Amino acid sequence: MSALAQNYKRKNLSFSSGKGSFLTSSNGKKYLDFVQGIAVNSLGHSNKNLIKAINKQSKKLWHVSNAFKIPEGEKLAKKLVKKTFADSVIFQNSGAEATEAAIKIARRYFFSIGKPHKTRIICIKNSFHGRTLAAIHASGSKKMTQGFGPKIPGFDHFKFGDHKKLKRLINKNTAAIMIETIMGEGGIKVIPVWCIKAISDLCNKKGILLILDEVQCGIGRSGKFFAFEYAKVKPDIVPIAKGIGGGFPLGAVLMRKKVAKAMVPGTHGSTFGGNPLAMAVGNAVLDKINKNLLTNVNKMSKYFIGNLNKLQKKYPKLIKEVRGVGLLIGLQLFTDQTIFIKKLMENRLLTIRAAENVIRILPPLNVKKSEIDFALKAINKVCMELE
Ligand SMILES: *Cc1c(COP(=O)(O)O)cnc(C)c1O
Repeated sequence: MSALAQNYKRKNLSFSSGKGSFLTSSNGKKYLDFVQGIAVNSLGHSNKNLIKAINKQSKKLWHVSNAFKIPEGEKLAKKLVKKTFADSVIFQNSGAEATEAAIKIARRYFFSIGKPHKTRIICIKNSFHGRTLAAIHASGSKKMTQGFGPKIPGFDHFKFGDHKKLKRLINKNTAAIMIETIMGEGGIKVIPVWCIKAISDLCNKKGILLILDEVQCGIGRSGKFFAFEYAKVKPDIVPIAKGIGGGFPLGAVLMRKKVAKAMVPGTHGSTFGGNPLAMAVGNAVLDKINKNLLTNVNKMSKYFIGNLNKLQKKYPKLIKEVRGVGLLIGLQLFTDQTIFIKKLMENRLLTIRAAENVIRILPPLNVKKSEIDFALKAINKVCMELE
């Protein structure tokens, strides 16, 4: 029996190495990896720039306390600020920590301007913001919170698309609306651009903050640096993680100046967050998330989604819908997707489930057309078998 706790239902498959879009299993079989650690390895496996960056930094300095200045972190924060809506950054180590910090920052902002009663955060029911106690209660998911009481107060929920309810939920105690720009775990549910705009307008009108969780859809995955850029809105707080570390655990909260001002010394901290090793990798990843790479994301996305739509028309009883933006793609089936994913694996294509019978397809952002062709062939073959 495994000495690991059984909190994951793991597939009987492990890997010994990876290169680009491919993984080699411990028994020597090659797989096309369209999971990439769940949208984490944005540049694929064993990227030479990242290897160089981590090797170089590992010989100089791994970790120092945030009691001291960390130039590598200053550099990465400056780049993020230059590239985005943000004026200021706090580094963390994961997505859940980043969303948790976002909640803290929103509350502390209102506390700092003399409105300490404004603490409530409005979220979408059955969303995903990570697995800490606050984040699971923010998600409003029965499955994730069951057995983890008492309920953490301070979160209100509305159903995806129910703007009437959303408006009704806002009251004098509301601090922020926090949503994923694209709901990843929830089944690659893309929130329409008009909807993001309406929510942003509502926040401005009511004087509350907009937190857009871009942990999964951010850092180029949508074809823009941030998915909310499609809606041309300016959020107040944006937690990021997954893609920014390229495989190294790294998260961050990006924010506007007015809220950053509330985070005075002592209000938040992390032992590991923003250490030199993580920052060296983050810098190397960010340097590669450039115009060329985004062009590749958009080109490959158009090709991939276009061909998946053709497969949907070819197998209309099996595939319900193709969802997604950029290289955050979902194939929604009419029935449970478990067997489909298993058969794709037998055909050497790795994908991962999401809610609503969705097969999540997450290639690295530098994926090649020939790799997408391999995936399309495997998907077509499995469709033929299961039709
Ligand atoms: C993955 C994810 C998180 C949590 O990230 P962890 O690094 O697993 O803590 C939070 N929000 C969204 C949208 C995510 O996809």
